[in-house]
Amino acid sequence: MSHVPERPHEFVCENCHIIYAGTVMGSESGEHQYESPTECAACGSTAFVELDAYPHTG
Ligand SMILES: [Zn+2]
Repeated sequence: MSHVPERPHEFVCENCHIIYAGTVMGSESGEHQYESPTECAACGSTAFVELDAYPHTG
């Protein structure tokens, strides 16, 4: 298999469940870090959870 590109972290608004791609933040160690949006554009909530940690229920 060819190499798999790094998948950006995604964040889910806990209030309205819209998914946002995380913002890539460079770090001095060379690793990519992803930061959640500061505010949901749809509902204004600031509560986000990583999509990987989001329970897939309902
Ligand atoms: Zn929202």
